[in-house]
Amino acid sequence: MIAKTIPIVDQRAARRVPVIPAHPPAPGGMLADTRGRLLRDLRISVTDRCNFRCTYCMPKEVFDRDYHFLPRTELLSFEEITRMTRLFAAHGVEKLRLTGGEPLLRKDLEVLIEMLAALETHDGKPLDLTLTTNASLLSRKAQAFKAAGLQRITVSLDSLDEAVFRAMNDVDFPVADVLKGIDAAHDAGFAHIKINMVVKKGVNDHDIVAMARRFKGSGHIVRFIEFMDVGSSNGWRMNDVVPSAEIVRMISAEMPLIEAEPNYIGEVAERWAYADGSGEIGVISSVTEAFCSTCTRARLSTDGKLYTCLFAQSGHDLRALMRSGKSDEQIAAAIGLIWNQREDRYSEIRTEEMVRTKKIEMSYIGG
Ligand code: SAM
Ligand code: SF4
Ligand code: SF4
Repeated sequence: MIAKTIPIVDQRAARRVPVIPAHPPAPGGMLADTRGRLLRDLRISVTDRCNFRCTYCMPKEVFDRDYHFLPRTELLSFEEITRMTRLFAAHGVEKLRLTGGEPLLRKDLEVLIEMLAALETHDGKPLDLTLTTNASLLSRKAQAFKAAGLQRITVSLDSLDEAVFRAMNDVDFPVADVLKGIDAAHDAGFAHIKINMVVKKGVNDHDIVAMARRFKGSGHIVRFIEFMDVGSSNGWRMNDVVPSAEIVRMISAEMPLIEAEPNYIGEVAERWAYADGSGEIGVISSVTEAFCSTCTRARLSTDGKLYTCLFAQSGHDLRALMRSGKSDEQIAAAIGLIWNQREDRYSEIRTEEMVRTKKIEMSYIGG
């Protein structure tokens, strides 16, 4: 299904030791990088493992029996994740997304959710706590997540075409079971569930309109994502990308769409509402219309490295600071300095050569 799978050099080993500035200002919720972008979102990969082998993310040929997933001792504990999140919140993080790998493979995830739900933003509000999942285990967990304080859920579903979906997840997982997970989340009280579809030309693009049609009027929001050159293993080529503009045209030809205002500055998905008022879709144009200028996202890997861009080549080892006994003030100061020095804008300046550089895998730093 993919053109070519490239063996990966283990980019996880590329680590930077954070510097702790001598006289840091106290975190004030307004931490800006070199381009004036505030730190507002944190994505945390709670496990690098997954029960799917989506061809565009964890191709079987690379993530096979010999692949070295992180041992348990390398993972951040729930206490460490909560401590980190508290420090990021003091710096201005308002939105938190748990991801992976497949986050539901992390044992007792609802316990972590409960710990995180008790935290507050720098100005005393609850954090916006969300989760991205392939929904394979969602039916049995949705109620516990709701009770623990999870606010929103995003489910990935790449096709309604049984054969195509099974081939894309590459473990023969059926569409019906993902749909059951979505229903269970809805029954547990999650509203406006987002459904992510990564579109790859010649693979699942024939299913775009059917996907929109299936969820139109359901209250759920399908978001069509351009296939990205994350990591180094998915054999990405520009020719495999279906531009969002084309996706909007295809859907609009059957179900007219009107462009809608963003919900907030820096929203990743561009919103399009059905002209008949029956809901909306989103498109995420990470390749054809880069949104680096408003990117406020940081990522924390499964083993506690901070990445300031999805396409980074190395991360800042915050776990090393924690495990060597540094204080909250010292770690917060190190985070402040890293973000202050951030210059990332990969998608704006992507070149053929950059596509071929060794980048960190998405399952490890979180999508
Ligand atoms: N396992 C969970 C899931 O699939 O929802 C969470 C982790 S997954 C890495 C997060 C999101 O990243 C998913 O919606 C997935 O489709 C998306 N993703 C992974 N690889 C991608 C790629 N190469 N291009 C675009 N999106 C990708
Ligand atoms: Fe697993 Fe999600 Fe990656 Fe698919 S996209 S392989 S479900 S982590
Ligand atoms: Fe943000 Fe990096 Fe993506 Fe640009 S390429 S939007 S800086 S994560």
